[in-house]
Amino acid sequence: MKKIQMVDLKGQYEKIKEEVDRGIHQVIDSTQFVNGQAVKDFQSDLEKYLGAKHVIPCANGTDALQVAMMSLGLKPGDEVITSDFTFVATVEVIALLGLTPVLVDVDPDTFNIDPVAIERALTPKTKAIVPVHLFGQSADMDAIMKIAKRHNLFVIEDNCQAIGSDYTSEEGWTRKTGTIGHLGCTSFFPSKNLGCYGDGGAIFTNDDELAHQLRGVVNHGMFVRYYHDYVGVNSRLDSIQAAVLNAKLPHLDDYCAARRNAADFYDKAFANHPNLIIPKRAEKSTHVFHQYTLRCKGIDRTALIDFLGKHDIPAMIYYPVPLHMQKAYIDPRYKEGDFPVTEALSLTVFSLPMHTELDEQQLLHITSKVLEFLG
Ligand SMILES: *Cc1c(COP(=O)(O)O)cnc(C)c1O
Repeated sequence: MKKIQMVDLKGQYEKIKEEVDRGIHQVIDSTQFVNGQAVKDFQSDLEKYLGAKHVIPCANGTDALQVAMMSLGLKPGDEVITSDFTFVATVEVIALLGLTPVLVDVDPDTFNIDPVAIERALTPKTKAIVPVHLFGQSADMDAIMKIAKRHNLFVIEDNCQAIGSDYTSEEGWTRKTGTIGHLGCTSFFPSKNLGCYGDGGAIFTNDDELAHQLRGVVNHGMFVRYYHDYVGVNSRLDSIQAAVLNAKLPHLDDYCAARRNAADFYDKAFANHPNLIIPKRAEKSTHVFHQYTLRCKGIDRTALIDFLGKHDIPAMIYYPVPLHMQKAYIDPRYKEGDFPVTEALSLTVFSLPMHTELDEQQLLHITSKVLEFLG
């Protein structure tokens, strides 16, 4: 059996080696290392894939979030609502920009931001909501866009874990996640569902004016060379990374399907087990399984992960500490117990290997060892 990894980038590369290598060599031959043709091709192909009017490539997913917030003209002290149960990047950029992060709890079944909790957290200073489409499926965008509309707020979707996912609204339309709010952000970190071989990211929008602002922000606030209209940053996707993404984008739907197949296998093995809760699939969103995350009940999670490790099966905890309990984000507004769902999830979730290359033998080994531990 092939060694089981959380993510198998080598196995995936071997299947598309020719396309990737050719693209990288073309960039080197052209010496257009920055803003080369590969970046332009990727930008327009991703716009087509997503059905988004504008894609603005940038250096990584964290920058995408930062640049998105910078483009909105928010002022220090403005409040931005986001999820307490997620990767730190979202709250980090809010804090870095001098904005005030307002954390809210999540839905216990989908792990996504709870619209009722958003409503409760609104104040006259609220300016934006950043839903994170966690683990590969969309937050409840119908409810979130309604709140935003009613209170005149911006919505920035953190789509770093859900690229390729489709959201079907109560109104009947279906759109790619990341293209529903005013802005969407993604990361091309290697282990993401659409990953390059280094760092990369992008912002999406259907708004011409915001797209114009974003193109300025990522380029030193500059539209005419050496004339700077506002304080920006330098955040670029380099051409070699774009070449890798050009080779991988045509496979993204197949990659999502492979992840979903692995998730189906896990679901079948673990459904109705008294000690496990399989991840619930949201009604309005397809799931692209960036992570396959279970909750455990009445068992010692650490002992299970140790047992799996002894059988060469990696397992991870995303995320072990809620943001309001992270040392960097301790805040007198929040205390332990304020976000009961997030706190319970952080103590009970664990994620099994999830990638495009898992085969049946590996999946059988993983599921049988989990079940063996549970007895
Ligand atoms: C990966 C990730 C980011 C940050 O992306 P980088 O490219 O690593 O900066 C932000 N938000 C979420 C939810 C992520 O998963």
